[in-house]
Amino acid sequence: MRLGLNAWLPLLAAALLLVTPGSAQMPEKISDNLFVYRDTCNVYVVKSGDEAILIDFGSGGVLEHLAEIGVNKVSWVLHTHYHRDQCQGDDALAGLGIKVAVPADQRRYFEDAEGAWKHMQLYHNYSFKPDFFEPTRSIKVDEGITPGETFEWGGLRFETLPSVGHTKDPGLTCLAEVDGKKVAFTGDLIHSPGKLWTYYDLQWRYNQHQGAQAGIESLEAVKNAKPDLLLPSHGVVMDNPQEAIDQTVAHIREVVDLLRWQPAHDQSKRNQQIFPHVVHQRTSFIIVADDGHALFYDSSIPEPEVEQLVRDHGIKQIDMIILSHYHDDHVGGIPTLKEKYGAELWAHESMVDIIETPYRYNIPCLGVGRYPDEAGPKVDRVLKDGDTFEWEGWTFKVFHFPGQTEYHMGMYAEIDGHRMVFMGDSTYRPQPGTIFRGENFNCRNYCRLGEGAGYLGCGEILKEYNPDMAMAAHFGAIPLDEKRIDEYYQWAKKLEPTFAKVVARSDPNFGTDPNWVSFYPYRVFAEAGETVVTEVRIRNHSDHQAEAVVRPLLPAGWRSNPEERRITIAAKETGGADFRIVLSKDAPISLRTVITANVVFDGIDYGEFPEMIIDNRSEKDKWREWYLEKAKAARISPSR
Ligand SMILES: [Zn+2]
Ligand SMILES: [Zn+2]
Repeated sequence: MRLGLNAWLPLLAAALLLVTPGSAQMPEKISDNLFVYRDTCNVYVVKSGDEAILIDFGSGGVLEHLAEIGVNKVSWVLHTHYHRDQCQGDDALAGLGIKVAVPADQRRYFEDAEGAWKHMQLYHNYSFKPDFFEPTRSIKVDEGITPGETFEWGGLRFETLPSVGHTKDPGLTCLAEVDGKKVAFTGDLIHSPGKLWTYYDLQWRYNQHQGAQAGIESLEAVKNAKPDLLLPSHGVVMDNPQEAIDQTVAHIREVVDLLRWQPAHDQSKRNQQIFPHVVHQRTSFIIVADDGHALFYDSSIPEPEVEQLVRDHGIKQIDMIILSHYHDDHVGGIPTLKEKYGAELWAHESMVDIIETPYRYNIPCLGVGRYPDEAGPKVDRVLKDGDTFEWEGWTFKVFHFPGQTEYHMGMYAEIDGHRMVFMGDSTYRPQPGTIFRGENFNCRNYCRLGEGAGYLGCGEILKEYNPDMAMAAHFGAIPLDEKRIDEYYQWAKKLEPTFAKVVARSDPNFGTDPNWVSFYPYRVFAEAGETVVTEVRIRNHSDHQAEAVVRPLLPAGWRSNPEERRITIAAKETGGADFRIVLSKDAPISLRTVITANVVFDGIDYGEFPEMIIDNRSEKDKWREWYLEKAKAARISPSR
């Protein structure tokens, strides 16, 4: 393939000042004809005379600085992959006559962004690719490049390799000889020696590690091409590629080895009387008192099975359902228990909002609402960390138990002579010869790393309560002793340092938590002329106070009040920047509009990182149909 057409720049660059944030810095010189401009991603400028080809485009701010390095014409922008931080400025390119080349396998995310968003899986989501960081506005594409293709431009020959891992659909690594050195533009395959910009992008699907494996294979392919320099989308120029890649591969492997779990057979479907007063059915534990009163810890039990349980175990009254967490395979039975049996719903404060208004969140395994636009069931009693309650002569203690997800609760009680900790999905039954530990680590679930957080927080609680029985939602009762509990604790203790080795951030949580910046609510229904109240929430995972500048980006005719907010967030705290978004009253809104906000946090421009969905309320029936279809098609997996 030959990339030919040139565009005339200087006059048009001035027009771009209006749409890009702009930056005072100059492109940094790597060699005579190779520069890097640090923007929402690294934008590389490859020169040939006074012409240039750009590898990725970021916000487009680079255009203001090209004259300073003797570039008058830009022929092409070549994208390594579809993430917004690579291409958020592309809107301007067609008007400037600059052509756009993208990975052929990702072409549709650029060309039909609006179409892709209409089919985005928001509920019962177990498949995380394509991810939510794709463009929200369609971009005109002039050429799709298939990995393996070569092309010539300005007397240079570019080779391409598939870049898989950071994205599932292959992106591109481009190799060329520039100023006597073989350079590799590696996108986000690697950040710096041993490090990645994000780990969560390697998780393509719930519980699985193919993305990490694919990332390793793509890195090995780059290594085999023997480049002299690695030029990443985020991170530093690496002049010892072999070592940089070897370290990164080793660090990814360490994470995968720590996370990989091999459960014994899932026992969640057995109707089992495991103790005189405790029944295990699917993911629920049902505690039945002698007088026929029952307590459900979780329920995704279908109505006929509940009827069977009532008959088999002489249940006269179901008093309450207490939730371990919000996942669809633990809460699907709530409407039956509430409406037919009059049970109360009790939930820990960490998950109440998700249960009642799931559409406000973009997290996996949602599905408690009957329809996307409707609220989920109302929580009748909000439980707090450390609460105690008495029921049928037993004393229960509840605690935040944030293992599999931050929005998770555990419960302790002494029943039938055992000290039981009801652990929800924060553990599983190990096979003989394997350790007792936390269950899966799916970044999108929000598994926080650090002292007192996530699985380590659970390990600390287990040490404190010293139970002799772990009640695991999918696996039943697992006998424990101090040695077993210590296995769990020691495993959990390794999580943060292992991720810290591979994640190139001030705190590894930034690389494992894809929602550290997010809109709240995530999704609303609205109509033309209305005002939508929203907030951009930022979790400052770092150990220092940080400033954020947040600026919503909206369709023509919409307004944000204020246009921009500057907030300060204390270390380890969550900050919020609130906005009133006024929808144009002059034009009807489309079926779905996706807005974004540009976020600069702690001095780093993350570009249009968070997005929010605004759906047309008058098209509700269409969305309802769509939701029911998706809910039906949702895969039932053994452990969610
Ligand atoms: Zn990326
Ligand atoms: Zn779960």
